[in-house]
Amino acid sequence: MFIKKALPALALLACCACGSKIPQKTNVLSKPPSQQKKSTTKPVTDKPEQTVFTKPEQKTRDNKTNDKPEPTNVEAERPQITYTPPASFNALPEMEYGSRSFYLNKVDSLQKAYSVSDYNKNIQTIINQITEIPGKKKNPAVTADSWYAAIDFNIRKPHFVVLHHTAQTSAEQTLFTFSLRRPGRESSSHYVVGRDGSVYQMLNDYVRSYHAGLGKWGSITDMNSCSIGIEIDNNGSEPFSDEQIKALLKLLEVLKNKYGIPQANFIGHSDVAPGRKSDPSKYFPWKRLADAGFGYWYDSYNLPTPPADFNAIMALRAIGYDTRDVSKAIGAFKLHYIQNDTSSSLTDYDKKVLYSIYRKY
Ligand SMILES: [Zn+2]
Repeated sequence: MFIKKALPALALLACCACGSKIPQKTNVLSKPPSQQKKSTTKPVTDKPEQTVFTKPEQKTRDNKTNDKPEPTNVEAERPQITYTPPASFNALPEMEYGSRSFYLNKVDSLQKAYSVSDYNKNIQTIINQITEIPGKKKNPAVTADSWYAAIDFNIRKPHFVVLHHTAQTSAEQTLFTFSLRRPGRESSSHYVVGRDGSVYQMLNDYVRSYHAGLGKWGSITDMNSCSIGIEIDNNGSEPFSDEQIKALLKLLEVLKNKYGIPQANFIGHSDVAPGRKSDPSKYFPWKRLADAGFGYWYDSYNLPTPPADFNAIMALRAIGYDTRDVSKAIGAFKLHYIQNDTSSSLTDYDKKVLYSIYRKY
C-alpha cells in the first residue's frame, strides 16, 4: 500500500529521460577573473537561460493538454486544493461508479486539469536544483571563494526496487489516486502493474517517489531516495495473476539491467516497514521472483540446519530487517518467506529458512 505521509524531499535526482534538456552551465573559471566574483554572487533566483523544460509526451487518451511549466517553488506556491471535477466531467457518459472506465475517465480529467502541469512543475524544480552551480548558494563548510569544476560525473541511480500491492480494486483506481492532489497525504510510485499485465509508468526512474515512507533497511532510513517503487494491482486478499507476474518480471529485468540493481535489493514494502506495512501480501510469489533473479529464496530441497549458536536476531539484522522491535521483524520476515504463518515467533523450521536466507547475504 502506498504511504499516507511522505518524507521530506532530500537530494533529488535529475531528469534526463523525460525529454528535458539539462542546461549547459558556464564554468566561472572560464570568465576573466574580474567577473568571477560577480558571477558567484548573482541572486540565486536568477533563472538560467537554458533551463527550458520540454514537456514529456502525455499518454492520456487525448493529448490536448498544453500547460506550460513554470519554473517556480512548487512546494511554496502549490495551491492546497482538492479534486474539483472539470466542467466537462459532468458530461461524461454514464458508467458504473468505481468501475475501471469510471476511474479512467477521472484520470484523464485530472491529467488534463492539473496532473501533467504539476509533474512538469516538479521536474522544473528538480532541474533548478541539480543545475545550480556549486558555490552559488554559499555552503558554510566550503572555504574557497571560487568554484573549481570536476568533470567526471553522471546521475545517481536507483539501487533498490520496493514492491507493493495497491489494496485497491483496479489499476485505474491507483492511477487516479496518484493523479490526485492530496495535500498532507502525498503518495506515488514509479510504476503500476495491472492485473491484466498492463504496465504504467507514472514517474521518471530518476526522481524520488513517495512510496516507501517511514522505514529502515540495513542502515538506510530513506528508501524513497534510493529505490524505485512498483505498485501491483491487488486487493491484498487474492492471488496475483500470471499475466501480472510475467509483466512484473519483464519490468524488473529492465530495471535490473539498466541500473545494475543487485538480486538482494528487490524487496517488499513490508520488509522495510515491519509492522507498519503488510504489502505485498502472503499471496505474492516471492519464490518465482527469486528463481528469476529478483530477491532471494531459501534452499527448500536441502534446508540447512543452523549451528547451535545461531543468533536469529543478528541474522535478521544482517539481511536488512529493522530489529528494534523483534516481533515485528520476525513477522515481516515470515510474511515474505513463510507466508502461511506470520506469527511473531520462530519455529525450528522458520529458523532453518532464516539461516538459509542469511547465508545468501
Ligand atoms: Zn506499500
